Amino acid sequence: MKFCPKCGKLMIPRREKDKIVLICPQCKNTIEVTHSVEVGYRVKHEVEEEKRTKMAIVTGTERKLTEEERQLLEDYYKVFLETYMEAEETSSEEGSE
Ligand SMILES: [Zn+2]
Repeated sequence: MKFCPKCGKLMIPRREKDKIVLICPQCKNTIEVTHSVEVGYRVKHEVEEEKRTKMAIVTGTERKLTEEERQLLEDYYKVFLETYMEAEETSSEEGSE
């Protein structure tokens, strides 16, 4: 998981042309995804319980996330991982980078 260095919100992954960026929903701070960031996201699967707690924190409130909200966040990262994997495969086929 990647948190905004400016305001501490959870960064939302988004595809931009041929790359993936993380965007802060609050201050619109943008970070280009590097390989180390991607590895950080992969680790989250091993910390299911911890993840729920963190997600509750990053929403900026002390209440727990609703099932719908939690699902939404999980979907974001599922899409992010899949998209990023595809991008990796494509770029290696082209032999660039
Ligand atoms: Zn921010």
